[in-house]
Parts: sequence; C-alpha cells; structure tokens
Amino acid sequence: MTTTVSKQMSDQELATLNERFESASPQEIVRWTDGRFGSELVLMSSFGLEDVAVFDMFWRINPRARVMTLDTLRLPTETYTLMDRIKARYETEIEAFTPDMDSVQEMVRKEGYNLFYKSIENRKLCCGIRKVEPLNRALNSVDAWITGLRRDQGMARGEIKIVERDEAHGNYKISPLANWDFDQVRAYVDENSVPYNELHDKGYPSIGCLPCTRAIEPGEDLRAGRWWWELDPDAKECGLHVVEKATR
Ligand code: SF4
Repeated sequence: MTTTVSKQMSDQELATLNERFESASPQEIVRWTDGRFGSELVLMSSFGLEDVAVFDMFWRINPRARVMTLDTLRLPTETYTLMDRIKARYETEIEAFTPDMDSVQEMVRKEGYNLFYKSIENRKLCCGIRKVEPLNRALNSVDAWITGLRRDQGMARGEIKIVERDEAHGNYKISPLANWDFDQVRAYVDENSVPYNELHDKGYPSIGCLPCTRAIEPGEDLRAGRWWWELDPDAKECGLHVVEKATR
C-alpha cells in the first residue's frame, strides 16, 4: 500500500517536522501522528516495555488505537499472557500476524525446529519466515506505523529519525520514544500502571522469541540476551530494525 496522496509529505515537511519533534514529548508526537493518519495508523508492537508505554499513550489519545503484532508461534508464555492482559485492560483487539505455515513446515523439515542455533544464516532464515514476511504483509496494509524504538538501543537504531519515510512499505514510520532512555520508559510504565511483561522483572530488558532470548547479567548490554550465542554484535538484528529498509 502506498500512503494516500493527501497524507504524503515532502522532504521539506519531513525535515521541518523532525526538527520540531526533537524537543516534543512522545505524547505530542503521537497526537500529531494520530491526527494525520487516523484509522490508517497502527502501532507495530512486540509488547516490550517501550511498546506498552507507547500503546498506553496512543490509547489515551485515541481509544480506538490500533495495535499489530507478529506472533512467531515461538513467543514466551509470559508474552501471550501480557497480550491477554492488554486486550482486557484496554478493551482492544490485537491484530496478530502469523507466519506462512507452508514456509515454516518446509524450513523445519529441512533444518529442524531449533535451526537458529546452528548458524547465523539459519537464524536469519527463521527470522525471515517468522518475522520479516509477516511484518511486510502487515505494514503493506497501512499508511503509517508507530514503533517503540529508542536511539540509545544502539546499532542501526542510533540513526533513526522521529518521522521517516518507509520506502519498503510505501508509508511512514514514527518513533516517538527516539529520544527517551530506558529509565524514562520504566518511569512512565510505573507511573501509569501500564501492564508489562513479567520477564522484565527477571532480567530480560529485551524480549523476543523464547528460544532466542535469555536474561542478562548486571553490566551487560541491554540486548546481550538476544541471540546470545552469536558473537558478532552487528549481526544481532532480525531484519526488522534495519534503517536502510525502514522496517521495524
Ligand atoms: S527470534 Fe529465533 S525463533 Fe524467533 S524468528 Fe528469529 S530465529 Fe526464529
């Protein structure tokens, strides 16, 4: 889907917005985004601490706020429990995108259930089938999407703009928390009693699929628990957050 012509922005408009939003609160950014894109706006969420904080902000601005997620079918029980709590607390539906099952079955038949531990290529294959393809399917259906990305999460995330044109999906990607740090997110969640994943209290600052996430030790990088067996930190993205592709 290409963003409706009336909602498209010129390079100049994007630059002006980004300059203005550098000193704006996340709520101001979400409010502007909701006004601009309306029902064609979604939050793409993996229900991490940032995502639940942004969803709470979004919902307070628009009780019909839409939220999409990728259900890889390998998520921790705690994440599914949180999704049920979010649905109940906000009386909302979660638009969940699952992988193409023919592709999953073929991958498992050829490489095994836990193929990701064998090589980076296998891990990227699994992320491609369980995350990237469903993500593309989801995002191709909307004009704009909100993420919970923060710049200080490192790697490609340090380069994100608050409002970006997402060339891969023909729409716009908005990151209201780009300038926040982890402590600000945590404080927002606590102050507003936002439901969050109980794994965060067990040493998991970043939560993905069950077999690919572990708790971290004090002093470790916040994403050290993701694909912890891989030694190359630059490889620790699943293709979702690569800036060049403007995907999540
Ligand atoms: S995080 Fe692990 S289980 Fe989940 S899609 Fe990627 S490789 Fe597969």
